[in-house]
Amino acid sequence: MKPTPTSPPLNPLLAFGAHPDDIEFGCGGVIARESRAGRPAHFVVCSRGEAGSYGTPKQRVAEAKKAAALLGATMEFIELDGDSHLEIRAVHAIKLAEIIRRLRPQIVLTPSVVENQHPDHARLGRLVRDAARLARYGGLNELRGQKSHAIEQLFFYAVTPEAEPRDITPLLLDVSAPEIVTAWTESMQAHGSQTSARNYIELQLTRARLFGARAGVEYAIRLFPSEPLVFDSLAQISRSARRF
Ligand SMILES: [Zn+2]
Repeated sequence: MKPTPTSPPLNPLLAFGAHPDDIEFGCGGVIARESRAGRPAHFVVCSRGEAGSYGTPKQRVAEAKKAAALLGATMEFIELDGDSHLEIRAVHAIKLAEIIRRLRPQIVLTPSVVENQHPDHARLGRLVRDAARLARYGGLNELRGQKSHAIEQLFFYAVTPEAEPRDITPLLLDVSAPEIVTAWTESMQAHGSQTSARNYIELQLTRARLFGARAGVEYAIRLFPSEPLVFDSLAQISRSARRF
């Protein structure tokens, strides 16, 4: 999708995924919504899904590239420990911090740190949370060549219902606009190798319908702020999920 021409330029969004389809399934509607509003979005995918039951790494890379383009995002693959081998290591957090310094995003999205069906998800969440801090630290030797960078917000997304943090009040993003739902759905369909076993697309859309229904809109995606959000004024807060 192209950004609408009248939108002012927005600060970039950076989303991390452990596997080629995590971002699309976990928060693809958010990406579609933001890129349509004119916010540049970039994906960093930390494996080629080589340990998955379905699809070859080559297929999965092609699927991920197509899906990112459908959401209006650019993307890159990086090597950490490989699919299903991800470990929490300082060297990884520093590598991710280097990417944050290079791309200088305002908003970073990453899988939640809650243990769920795939161990890589929560581990990547922790690594990205650490990386966001390291990107700001001026004295880190490995990153001396790059100007430090402080992001504004870190949000966790939940690839599956099990990954939703229970101790963080979520923010609900309304993604009901038909063109947003279409772009999100098509980005999930692009991962054809992953959707043959179970209808994961319907699972994600049903989750979004449930959250939307609870908030009085058609579709909503939950994001979980890593830290409390700060507002200059109560006027900046649009509405809450409950109609009091
Ligand atoms: Zn995954």
